[in-house]
Amino acid sequence: MNRKSMIGAVAAGCMVVMLAQPAVAANVKVTPLGGQEGEFCRQDRALVFEDPNGTRILYDVGRTVAGANDARLGKIDVILVSHMHGDHVGNAHNKAPNSGTCDKPDTSVSAVPNSNTVNIAIAKKAKIVTGSEMPPFFANKLKANGGNPKDSILTRFGGSVNLGGVTIATVPAVHSNGLDPAYFGGELGKAMQEAGIAGYVGQATGYVLKFSNGLVVYLSGDTGITAEQDKVVRGHYGAKLAVMNIGDGFTTGPKEAAYVINELVKPASVIASHANEVATKGGKVLPGTKTETFIKAVKVRVHVPLSGRMMEFDSAGKCVAGC
Ligand SMILES: [Zn+2]
Repeated sequence: MNRKSMIGAVAAGCMVVMLAQPAVAANVKVTPLGGQEGEFCRQDRALVFEDPNGTRILYDVGRTVAGANDARLGKIDVILVSHMHGDHVGNAHNKAPNSGTCDKPDTSVSAVPNSNTVNIAIAKKAKIVTGSEMPPFFANKLKANGGNPKDSILTRFGGSVNLGGVTIATVPAVHSNGLDPAYFGGELGKAMQEAGIAGYVGQATGYVLKFSNGLVVYLSGDTGITAEQDKVVRGHYGAKLAVMNIGDGFTTGPKEAAYVINELVKPASVIASHANEVATKGGKVLPGTKTETFIKAVKVRVHVPLSGRMMEFDSAGKCVAGC
């Protein structure tokens, strides 16, 4: 072997190693648990993130997860709750996976006073990680239902916790976070219900997760445009994948959400979320939807969270399978 071909062989060897890496590489798997298999529907919020090491994190349970017995859940180690509104914590839920329609899931099963979140956490022995003033609420609910109050874990703005190899931090969301009196009931709950006021549990939040392969993910929660999306989410944490709420009215609409992605967070790719519409039919985005407007306005690749369809992301935030 002459020198040139040896260098060639070494280079080829390096190439093999480099090319072989993605196969062993550790991707983060993201699976939406929405209202209708293969579609992106009105009430869809819940996503399961699976770290390469197997740790499974359920983000914003909502109403489309059909309670603790929903077979799509599998093992759940950690549950995240961006804020206490019923469409996130789960004041009610689907009768069974895919029951009802994309426009109107059959969320006839009430989950108050516990919440879908607490019921699932107890069944799965999962930890609930929240910021703000929400942890004491979850600790008491866990305790009252035979769970361990220590499984409710605080991560307030600026700090973080590491669970199962995933670092979890909260970031501010500009939203509201009233606790429906239906969760605490009694005379006080009744009086507050009649007065039309909610319980105080601090600010709504978003999250930043750092997985064991290095991927940093921003979960917006329900929010408007915030300076922290630039200074904190991009500037400090360097998020490479974003899950962005686009539904308008309650949160940023598609154009505002596109500004957040293009000018503030600047990730490698984004998953649309919380569109509050029937966004797809047969898995294809419908014309005239907020989801379509968002996709057209965003400079990076937008992934539509089709229920049950797993996507895999590498450490740079690029979707490498299922997209
Ligand atoms: Zn919401």
